[in-house]
Amino acid sequence: MKNISHVVSRPGHKPGDPDIEIPVAEDIATVPGHPIRETDISFYSRSTPLEQWHVEKGADRDWAWTVYTEEFSEFRKAHDEHVKPLVEESRNSGDIEPTTDPDPDPDIEPTETIYQKARELGFGEVGFTKYDRRYTYFTKRRWTKFTNAICLAWEQDYDATQTTISMDAEHAHYGSYEEMGKQGLELAKVIRSLGYHAQVHSPNDASAPYIPFFVNAGLGQLGANGQLLMPHFGSRARLMMITTDAPVHHDKPVDYGINKFCDQCQVCVQRCPARALVKEKVWWRGALKNKVIYDRCRPLMSKLDGCGVCIKVCPVQKYGMKPVMEHYVETGEVLGKGSEELEGYPIPRVGYFAAGKLPTFDSDFFEFPHGTREQWAFEELKQRLEDGDEISDEELVAFAKRVKNAVDETNKGWGATDD
Ligand code: SF4
Ligand code: SF4
Repeated sequence: MKNISHVVSRPGHKPGDPDIEIPVAEDIATVPGHPIRETDISFYSRSTPLEQWHVEKGADRDWAWTVYTEEFSEFRKAHDEHVKPLVEESRNSGDIEPTTDPDPDPDIEPTETIYQKARELGFGEVGFTKYDRRYTYFTKRRWTKFTNAICLAWEQDYDATQTTISMDAEHAHYGSYEEMGKQGLELAKVIRSLGYHAQVHSPNDASAPYIPFFVNAGLGQLGANGQLLMPHFGSRARLMMITTDAPVHHDKPVDYGINKFCDQCQVCVQRCPARALVKEKVWWRGALKNKVIYDRCRPLMSKLDGCGVCIKVCPVQKYGMKPVMEHYVETGEVLGKGSEELEGYPIPRVGYFAAGKLPTFDSDFFEFPHGTREQWAFEELKQRLEDGDEISDEELVAFAKRVKNAVDETNKGWGATDD
């Protein structure tokens, strides 16, 4: 039995459920939220601002469509058509005026009303924090308007997620975006009816990496899988935000013990089929974290029509944070670690990988275009010149058109946080 540092109390899983208490063992207690260096976050925000994924990595976004199976390609096209109007509406949402004046009584503030309404609309976790502009993607800097952030997490279906890697899990993944995008717009209407502005930050058109906001709002902590681990559903969550001028009370970051628990668990690191997760933490743009190696993850996710093994094998996702932390306090062990039900997974068209077994792929498997669409066009031209190819006038004209199209596509496009 381990000594307990502190006990975290959180609202129940569903509206009306009793609060839960999560014990945090002394040997995994660190800091509320995340170990960060404020000066580094500010420095990188000014010197090398973050950029939307569909801009910075447009080349591989286009490439992914060339390696999807027909089934997945059709599914993704239908999803994109479905969410396109939701993205457009979200983009314009910050300009819509409130439908009434705020209540003049300073004692009536909107935090609880917004919280309850968000839960009624189906959001599984809701929190409030300052909108920290330092995380804003470069192309979204002029778009973001308001200073308070409402963090909204949508729980992805449990059963479908346990079948990862599978089309069922992908339906749950993208289906979550579709439903939450719609309900986020509904919540914005409620906020306007209370007398305040509401700008919807779509899950399909992220304005920033959302996890730091959720951590600051006390809704979870960053796991070694690069995802937010939340009390009731771990990383089986999809995230979006609404920013507002409503005077909401800010929540505080919480230490759930995850920062150090992950160092002991490491299940996702050991089970990632692409070996894209790393054991050791590094300082990255002011945060101490296990940095996912994108160049390993991206090709596997694209060629297998999705992945998400790092979600599926996480004990906090499968069992919930309370049972996992209670088990750790009682035994010093990680609940489910080494078991087939937690660690085994299928890979479509490849096979089943029991606990302890991993697939292997040759190095060609991990080759894909890098950078923006236009950078990749230049890269390919450079390669041809280095190879001694003659480039005809027609090819140069075609190249110029390709670069123009690439820039246009980047300017009008949008993309999910984790497409
Ligand atoms: S999505 Fe798959 S490949 Fe990518 S980090 Fe997670 S387990 Fe690894
Ligand atoms: S699987 Fe283990 S190491 Fe990975 S995020 Fe979940 S708790 Fe952390």
